Amino acid sequence: MDLISPIKNTKNLGEQAYETLRDSIITLKLEPGQNIYENEIATLLDISRTPIRDAFHSLIAEQLIEVLPQRTKIVSRISEQKVKESAFIRMSLERSAFKLVASNWDQSNKYQKAERQIRRILDEQEEALEAQDIDQFFQLHEAFHNSILQLTGNETLLQFISRVRGNLDRFRYLARREFVLTGHSVDEHRELLTFLKNRDEQKVEQLVDHHMGELDEELAGLREKYPTYFTD
Ligand SMILES: [Zn+2]
Repeated sequence: MDLISPIKNTKNLGEQAYETLRDSIITLKLEPGQNIYENEIATLLDISRTPIRDAFHSLIAEQLIEVLPQRTKIVSRISEQKVKESAFIRMSLERSAFKLVASNWDQSNKYQKAERQIRRILDEQEEALEAQDIDQFFQLHEAFHNSILQLTGNETLLQFISRVRGNLDRFRYLARREFVLTGHSVDEHRELLTFLKNRDEQKVEQLVDHHMGELDEELAGLREKYPTYFTD
């Protein structure tokens, strides 16, 4: 497996092992349904079993790893049901969060700094689009959403979203990989930023719903192409 390189930094090994494994699962380097072994991963990452076990526990809680009878562990298959459930939760929370940010937006340093950062992300997103660099595009897309969510200052919200999004993130990654990247979502991001600055809560709400909805068509196409990746 070429997915993982050894971890050099000895701080928070469990956390790093978790990040590395999660990233490999989301980007489908570890494929849905494939067996995954703690000792094999420990060897690949060149760290002991304990932090790997911690990382596995977190990924099981996030439903990205599944424990079968006999304690065999596999990368969980993509559940259409769970993708839809997590899309619903994420959309509901982001709708509220974005509206809150719109209502609080002002000329203070905090928001000026945030705006500069968001514009930088959007420019980089356009570069990634130009290069059709899916991994980069995907990361920047998440960075855009996170920088707005962070403006709520609600740590619990951020942690909660990151725990429920695994199944959805993986599905979104697959969808982006399979379809040609278009500028559509970047245009919507720019529009969202404008509405936030205008403190237009109603338009923010409408656009968040539109931006994060519409999974059905993609689901059907991807299920057909990758039947073994999906369950239920
Ligand atoms: Zn977006």
